[in-house]
Amino acid sequence: MAENCLFCGIVSGDVPATVVHDSDGALAFADVTPKAPTHVLVIPKKHLTDIGDLASDPEAAAAVVAGISAVARELKLESYRTVFNTGPGAGQTVFHVHAHVLAGRDLGWPPG
Ligand code: 5GP
Ligand code: ZN
Repeated sequence: MAENCLFCGIVSGDVPATVVHDSDGALAFADVTPKAPTHVLVIPKKHLTDIGDLASDPEAAAAVVAGISAVARELKLESYRTVFNTGPGAGQTVFHVHAHVLAGRDLGWPPG
């Protein structure tokens, strides 16, 4: 748990969130400002800042991947996009690593 980390606050229950899936190592909750009809964030419960950090913790990485898959299964998502924004230049604003799971609208490729 890192002090002043919004997503650690969600893990601890200090910050309210709409939880979609909860496992030992990962938590999935609805994005407060959804960019698609379905927009879920999947985070490791342990504070890790970005995907490079996550790569150094295979247990947490596996928990996040399993969490993404569980969200897709439980919400019956036929097609979805998973995004990790890494660094401020790519739009990362919360420095507790998170996967965006987006679905429910046309997700063109390559993204605009
Ligand atoms: P990033 O920009 O770092 O890739 O993604 C951060 C995401 O966190 C954004 O999509 C933003 O809408 C979401 N977010 C920011 N504050 C909160 C919050 O307090 N609760 C929830 N559930 N999502 C948040
Ligand atoms: Zn954190």
